[in-house]
Amino acid sequence: MEADDMAEGSDPDSDLEPEAAFALIGQEMRFAILRALWDAGDKGLTFSELREAVGNPDAGNFNYHLRRLLGPFVVKHETDGSPTYELTVAAGYVMGSIESGGYHRTERVGPVGIDGTCPDCGGGIEAVYEDDLACVRCLECDVRMFDFPLPAGAVAAYDPPDLPDLLDRWVRTTVRRVRANICPVCSGRLSGHLTDEDSDHPAKDITARYTCQQCARTVNGTVSAWLVEHPAVVQFWMNHAVDPLEHPLWSEMWRTSTDVRRLETDPLRVGVQFTLDGETLELVVDETVQVAEVRRP
Ligand SMILES: [Zn+2]
Ligand SMILES: [Zn+2]
Repeated sequence: MEADDMAEGSDPDSDLEPEAAFALIGQEMRFAILRALWDAGDKGLTFSELREAVGNPDAGNFNYHLRRLLGPFVVKHETDGSPTYELTVAAGYVMGSIESGGYHRTERVGPVGIDGTCPDCGGGIEAVYEDDLACVRCLECDVRMFDFPLPAGAVAAYDPPDLPDLLDRWVRTTVRRVRANICPVCSGRLSGHLTDEDSDHPAKDITARYTCQQCARTVNGTVSAWLVEHPAVVQFWMNHAVDPLEHPLWSEMWRTSTDVRRLETDPLRVGVQFTLDGETLELVVDETVQVAEVRRP
């Protein structure tokens, strides 16, 4: 083993400013190192494998650039035998974002005709993806029933007819993540609150808004939309021999079976009701969007 097999980070504990972090990976060899580690996946690479993967550059130069990455972007594992290098979790997100296409690809998919009708005029509906947004809209009156940002790389992985199914699964996954208080953009901590000041959703005028404590972005949805994956709701559907996964979130079943009533105004507290075959399940939701009580039929 050569002395330069022992690349060490200068100060792995020091926080990098975002600008400095991006400047760090903007250098050609450092990006090649990250790319090689991304391609290697979970098994990582030894010092010599990594050097070979980036075209066997001069050892001193290579070692210098690898050292710069250690800490924020690359982690060194000392497990049995030769140390291996892997991407940090955060670097995995950076490389995954590049892979998901946000930086180098634009896609337009559809329109794709889908089952169902417009709640406003009864017309047919279709799904389309453009400008990073997937949407379900009416063919007749142009009402947009559903709008959701989707990375181009996710869309490119499927055939156009699969767009509606992908959109449904993507939104459900986001719902779970948000309900777990994890920001879908930066993984920071979310806090939720109910508000009725928002008129974006006139049909169900209570919005549950989640705000990220790290990146300050907000994610909004009707209060009932955030509960579609709640175990009590899933169980209720299953008890009525309905598989909720077979009904996309824009489908008539969700629309016609869901209702919201105000229980208290200060602080705001609502009952979200799901009704099937004359039976009603009600979830009492408090101002922080926590389910305070489940009232089964
Ligand atoms: Zn319509
Ligand atoms: Zn965030």
